Amino acid sequence: MPRTIIAGNWKMYKTQAEAVEFLHEFLPSLDITPETRQVLLCVPFTDLLCLSKNLHGSRVQLGAQNVHWQDQGAFTGEISAPMLTEIGVRYVVIGHSERRQYFGETDTTVNQRLKAAQAHGLTPILCVGESKAQRDAGETETHIMSQLEIGLQGIDQTNLVIAYEPIWAIGTGDTCADTEANRVISMIRSQLTNPEVTIQYGGSVNPQNIDQIMAQPEINGALVGGASLQASSFARIVNYEG
Ligand code: 13P
Repeated sequence: MPRTIIAGNWKMYKTQAEAVEFLHEFLPSLDITPETRQVLLCVPFTDLLCLSKNLHGSRVQLGAQNVHWQDQGAFTGEISAPMLTEIGVRYVVIGHSERRQYFGETDTTVNQRLKAAQAHGLTPILCVGESKAQRDAGETETHIMSQLEIGLQGIDQTNLVIAYEPIWAIGTGDTCADTEANRVISMIRSQLTNPEVTIQYGGSVNPQNIDQIMAQPEINGALVGGASLQASSFARIVNYEG
């Protein structure tokens, strides 16, 4: 069975002080009895060091939201994998649709970032998903297959998480129907060589729909944006019934 991973993606939200305030409420409300359920917070770079110290000894792991493919160099504004691992970061989100849309991320640079993450023992969370126009044109499958084909070239599938995030469902409240998310995730799994890869669903996950989403057999977790910013709502999501 793939591991269950519930991850919060804070995007560009929360100063360090706000992050610490979140933890004060969040950590005591965690009730993750199943030992196999992994909880993860993917936070802005400036929050990482402080959260690493504050999460020490807890069940919550730390993730970054991007990583460069070189270990060091003249790449102003970038952060490398050794910089992340040194401070206790274990996961990194790669190829989020917002990075593809606003920052020119391509399947090729996604692939380079995945390789660098793995080379340094970070677990990458590769994000894939179609736009509304692609879905309407019946191109969901071909688009995702091409993202996977290029993104996963030469990638070790034993240290990998994939997040299916339909772009039209992100931040819109328009959640993908759980059976449809299950269908697409099943298609993604059929493209992989390792059936044990954790595949998450992301896009308007909230405390009201998490139980139903996680009840789907192919869905192994969630990547949560807006609803991960409030401690009580993210705690409810993490503590989902199942
Ligand atoms: P929302 O949960 O706010 O829709 O964001 C999803 C997402 O992009 C997580 O990476």
